Amino acid sequence: MVFTLKFIFFLAVLTNIGSCTNDKIFEPNTSNLPSIMDGSADPIKKLTSPNTNVTINNLPKIENLVVNENGQQLSFNIIDDNESVGITLYGKKPGDTDYVNISELFTGDIGTHIAVGANKTITSIELNEYNEMALRVTDLEDFKLDILKTVSENRIQHDIQQLSGIRHYALPQLLNQTRRYIKKEFEKYQLDAALIHSFSWNSISAANVVGHHKGNINDNGTYIICAHFDSVRNTPGADDNASGTAGILEAMRILSQYEFKNSIAFIGFDLEEQGLIGSKEYVNELNTNHDILGVINFEMIGYPCRSAICQDLPLSDTSIYNIALPEFTALRTKFDAIGNEYVPKLKITSVEADNDPNFRRSDHAPFWSANISALFITDGANFRNPHYHQTSDTPETLDYNFTKNIVATTVLTVMDLAGINRTTSVHITL
Ligand SMILES: [Zn+2]
Repeated sequence: MVFTLKFIFFLAVLTNIGSCTNDKIFEPNTSNLPSIMDGSADPIKKLTSPNTNVTINNLPKIENLVVNENGQQLSFNIIDDNESVGITLYGKKPGDTDYVNISELFTGDIGTHIAVGANKTITSIELNEYNEMALRVTDLEDFKLDILKTVSENRIQHDIQQLSGIRHYALPQLLNQTRRYIKKEFEKYQLDAALIHSFSWNSISAANVVGHHKGNINDNGTYIICAHFDSVRNTPGADDNASGTAGILEAMRILSQYEFKNSIAFIGFDLEEQGLIGSKEYVNELNTNHDILGVINFEMIGYPCRSAICQDLPLSDTSIYNIALPEFTALRTKFDAIGNEYVPKLKITSVEADNDPNFRRSDHAPFWSANISALFITDGANFRNPHYHQTSDTPETLDYNFTKNIVATTVLTVMDLAGINRTTSVHITL
């Protein structure tokens, strides 16, 4: 059900609750450094990545393929982590432009639920007139259920604990370490590219971190999962936005293990708190023929209200807000549908945004302005979390299972949209 948060936001503006992006521009000024808080916000701590890896569902492999001279018989081995696979054969005659399914012209180990193993054979039941063939082996398992199980609450918790601490340009050490942490994770999971997108703002050197997982059919078409990694000063920023940063890292760990038709980019944005600087830089530098198909922006995804402390706040519930402009309803309802079907424990409040500036208070806004479909995924920020922009925004206040369910819904949504590849093909020219 769609409802508007406008009244609540209006109320909040009246009562002068701060905004998520800080409109005030801080000039670099070393005499004005914030004091470092005790304990949790040590900016020179060493960050270590989680040591548990992702268990993947491998694509089937075709090995030792032997085709006899006239293409009447094919023999091969199938290796897969499932017991059975689907096998199909496509063919093309001289002069044809397209392949057609010719499985019915063959008998033997062809069709659905063929046991994996060695010495599979398929034989033509009539004279084979096809001079080109494609043998396709498809994993039959429900990838969604499989993937769901691999999203790790422990890794999310580890990331949030590691990243929490002041990540502000006036204290560049932890901010730098955070960029390196993200880039190292992108490299560890062997993304096709892990880039530092540098820019300067008010004489400060800043940088987004961008990871690319290339699609194998339409690599120009890209889905983006993003979150800002900077914090305001004087807060460890666990919910805002170590939670979102942990979300992109965990989504990357899972999605990087699979092949997709379209590309997927994972982006950590810098200087969001200074007025969406990093995401504006990124969107401004997109060339006019970019092909960004959809964006999911995590802005605080760790705080469901489950305690007395936030019960008197307007959004004191346990849902995640999925917000988009009316023109991007298709992406929003896709996220809702996937969540409802596969992650029923996650309560999603789906909201159609109007012109209220509160709906534009994070890195999805520059994409909206460029007419790119984007979701604003948030726990409600200052409208729910009493620790918002406070020294008390610490990992202990968060619910990692809530974050995990949001990441799981995002992973499955992007997996569907980007078109996961469940099939291995071998082309045969006679
Ligand atoms: Zn934020």
